[in-house]
Amino acid sequence: MADSAVTGATANARRYRGRFAPSPTGPLHLGSLVTALASWLDARAHRGDWLVRIEDIDMPRCVPGADRHILDTLARLGMHPDEPPVWQSQRQSRYAQALQRLEGAGMVYPCGCTRKEIADSLRHARERHQTLAYPGTCRNGLHGKLPRAWRVRVPDGPAALLCFDDRWQGRQCQDLETELGDFVLRRADGLWAYQLAVVVDDGLQGITDIVRGADLLDSTPRQIHLQRLLGLPAPAYLHVPVVVNAQGEKLSKQSGAAAIDALDPLAALRLAGSHLGLHSSSPSVPGWLTEATGQWARRWLRG
Ligand code: GLU
Repeated sequence: MADSAVTGATANARRYRGRFAPSPTGPLHLGSLVTALASWLDARAHRGDWLVRIEDIDMPRCVPGADRHILDTLARLGMHPDEPPVWQSQRQSRYAQALQRLEGAGMVYPCGCTRKEIADSLRHARERHQTLAYPGTCRNGLHGKLPRAWRVRVPDGPAALLCFDDRWQGRQCQDLETELGDFVLRRADGLWAYQLAVVVDDGLQGITDIVRGADLLDSTPRQIHLQRLLGLPAPAYLHVPVVVNAQGEKLSKQSGAAAIDALDPLAALRLAGSHLGLHSSSPSVPGWLTEATGQWARRWLRG
C-alpha cells in the first residue's frame, strides 16, 4: 500500500488498534450494538485505540442520517472513538489505487459474465457434482464480452486452502478455489466491493485487531488473501456470535430489529452485555463500562 508505515509489522508487535465499521443502512440495533460493544471492550482491555469507520460505499443500501444516528447512539452509551470517524465514500481513490496495484501484478481481471450466466454455469456444475464456485470463465480473456466487474484471482490446488485462528471461534479454514473462486473487487454497477474496501481501510488505518459479528467469518479468508496480495500485515480476529430473533434469524434491519433506545443507555448496555456473557449491576454508564472491561479482559486479554 502507499502507506509503508503499515507494512512489514506483525499484529502483535504493533500498538492495539481496533474498530467498529457499521454500514449505515439503519439505526443501531441490538445486533450491531453487541458488535460495537465487543470491539470497544477489546480495545479498552488492551489499552488500545478504538476507531469508527462508516462503511457507506454501497450507497443504494445506505439510509440518509443513519450514520449520525449510529454515532450519536454510541456517544450516549459512552463509546467515543479515539480519532474522528471516517466515511468510506470519501476514500474511493484509495480503493482505485489498490485495484491498480493488483492489476499491475496481474492478480485481477475484468469479467464479462452476468449473474444469470454464472448461475447457469453453476447449475451445470451442480448437475455434474462439481464446484459451485465462480468457474473462472473470464480468467483468460473476455471471449468477446464487455467488461462488467473486476475479479481477483485465488490460488489453485492445495495453496487455495486458507486457515486462520479466531480468538472466539477457533481455527477456521476455507478453500478459496472450490468454495468461492475468483471474487469480485469492483462490481458491475461500478461500486467497490466490501471485501476490497475493508482490507484497504483496515490496512491504511493500522488496524491490528478486528472484532465483529460471526456472520462475517466466511469473508475473512478472502480478506486475508487480499492482505497478502497487498503486502499488509494480518490483523488478529475475534468474531462474536450473532444475535438472532425468535425465528432464529440474524437481527438486522431486514428482519425488523428495533433501534436501540439511547434514552435508556444502561438498559441497552445490560442487554448487549448479556449476549457477551457480561453482567454488571453498576448503576451508571461509566461504572458499567469499567466493570464490563474488567470482565472482558479476564476472558479475552491476549498475550
Ligand atoms: N460494514 C460491515 C457491516 O456492517 C462490517 C464490516 C466489518 O466489520 O468488517 O456488516
